Amino acid sequence: MRPVTHNNKVKIVEAPAGHGGEGFFALKLSEAVGLARSNSIWPLPFATSCCGIEFMATMAAHYDLARFGSERLSFSPRQCDLIMVMGTIAKKMAPVLRQVYLQMAEPRWVMAVGACASSGGIFDSYSVLQGIDQVIPVDVYVPGCPPRPEAILDGFMRIQDLVKSEDIRHRQGDKYKHLLNSYGIQ
Ligand code: SF4
Repeated sequence: MRPVTHNNKVKIVEAPAGHGGEGFFALKLSEAVGLARSNSIWPLPFATSCCGIEFMATMAAHYDLARFGSERLSFSPRQCDLIMVMGTIAKKMAPVLRQVYLQMAEPRWVMAVGACASSGGIFDSYSVLQGIDQVIPVDVYVPGCPPRPEAILDGFMRIQDLVKSEDIRHRQGDKYKHLLNSYGIQ
């Protein structure tokens, strides 16, 4: 969905395609909810090491995550939509990460930022978790050691795509329940 420019200054996202006529416009509820959700994601930064610094740059004025409606970081898992895991996750930290994920309200999304969060990175050692998807389901992986802010923004936009296209009944469906069950989450 490409942004629409007005007066070459203000950009707004396009409305989903719907059915319009004289005095009415109709669209699927999922698309309206998806449009609102995808442009007001509240991220929870779970930063443990160097990739977190790239996230700080992503939040700052030059890259400006606020352009996506996501300037409101949440440090309470109960008030966030997206957990962004950035950095090396030690095995001792894994239960903490999982606990934070479990405290997030549905619908929730997960982004693994950088090689460490995605796969353990260069730390192929007894103490480091070899990817956060061993303890929680991941929606988007961002490669790099560290990924540049552009890559983090690209991953964020992939999350937006997922949020935008998700059916509002998806979280109650068997497929999602099966995914959670595979992680031992009821
Ligand atoms: S992926 Fe690289 S930059 Fe990111 S936390 Fe690991 S070692 Fe640091």
